[in-house]
Amino acid sequence: MKNTEWIERGEQVFANTYTRFPAAILRGEGCRLWDANGKEYLDFLAGIAVCALGHCHPAITAAIRSQANDLVHVSNLFYTKPQIELAELLVQNSFADRIFLANSGAEANEAAIKLARIHSTPGKFEVISLLGSFHGRTLATVAATGQPRFHQGFEPMPAGFVHAEFGDIAAIEALIGPQTCAILCEPLQGESGVRPLDTDYLQQIRTLCDRHQLLLIFDEVQTGLGRTGTLFAHEQLGVTPDIMTLAKALGNGLPISAMLTRKEIAASFTPGTHASTFGGNPVAAAAATEVLHTLLAPGFLESVQEKGAYFSAQLEQLTENFPRWAAAVRGRGLLLGLVLTEEGIGRGSEIVELMFAKGMIINFAGNRVLRFAPPLIVSKNEIDVLIQELSLVLAELT
Ligand SMILES: *Cc1c(COP(=O)(O)O)cnc(C)c1O
Repeated sequence: MKNTEWIERGEQVFANTYTRFPAAILRGEGCRLWDANGKEYLDFLAGIAVCALGHCHPAITAAIRSQANDLVHVSNLFYTKPQIELAELLVQNSFADRIFLANSGAEANEAAIKLARIHSTPGKFEVISLLGSFHGRTLATVAATGQPRFHQGFEPMPAGFVHAEFGDIAAIEALIGPQTCAILCEPLQGESGVRPLDTDYLQQIRTLCDRHQLLLIFDEVQTGLGRTGTLFAHEQLGVTPDIMTLAKALGNGLPISAMLTRKEIAASFTPGTHASTFGGNPVAAAAATEVLHTLLAPGFLESVQEKGAYFSAQLEQLTENFPRWAAAVRGRGLLLGLVLTEEGIGRGSEIVELMFAKGMIINFAGNRVLRFAPPLIVSKNEIDVLIQELSLVLAELT
């Protein structure tokens, strides 16, 4: 069956929540995908920063197979080996010493918000987040998300979320009141167009949290797990959160997420206060354990930094060669954005479509920026191919 038939069948049965590329993907390997028409793609989106080790990485597939042979699910009424091994690895390699496992980014953020509330003195419940942020689509996490367009039609939003102007420390300070319990932010905003937060600004946020006894929650759902060249983005910023959430790349495609914190804070949860039926599913946890082993192998994160710098320099070249369309490059590691000019913004979706026609997968984040989040195993040669095709697309725009 070809793409068009799959698309027709899909349209008959799905709720209308996604704008999809017109292709049914049947197979993936490394940075490549193949659709139902047999067309090959170079994937510089990696399932939205999820397949960090590429599609169907042999070690991850082996871990999934082996765990699926032993045990798929038993519930959190029992201990299981993959969950414990995963949590140990997260503890050994982060500021945290307690882990809660869930299934998605939004769920990890929900756990973080609930923990911040239950840990805080009675009467404190409000979370300050930033305009332009993205924290998920459940009611609480969408309320935390500082983008009004995601709230529209779903009001009233759950109470207890306020948003501060991006980059303005005084705006955050002005929102702190007797009811505030936490500040939630991404160290680098992914969805709203690859916008890094200044190191100074993040340090000032940390200082505000300390001064007002607020918890600092970092949403590293997109930036975590090697994407920016260090295991966690905050390691490059000299700021340590009290709670951190991880998801996207954790299972290299299997649904699993984690909330990490310190044991004094985690102690505010007691049995029965929070739970997830599937959270830390053994198969997903086995995959995630293997993901962490691979990311932590000597030289791996250095290679992400090196390829990120190489890619970033190539993109800089595009801003010089195509000043009419491309204005600047931003991001860290292999989470990079090509900021379009005012004129270029109007052509962003078209650029993504023209790239797709050439078999190159990228996306247009925040309606401002071409976003690149290739598998971290991408080669310099694949980066060259992407840049070459993007140059052709930009050169042909009139
Ligand atoms: C993707 C994302 C989420 C939501 O994750 P889901 O798994 O879709 O719930 C939350 N925060 C950030 C920063 C993200 O990039």
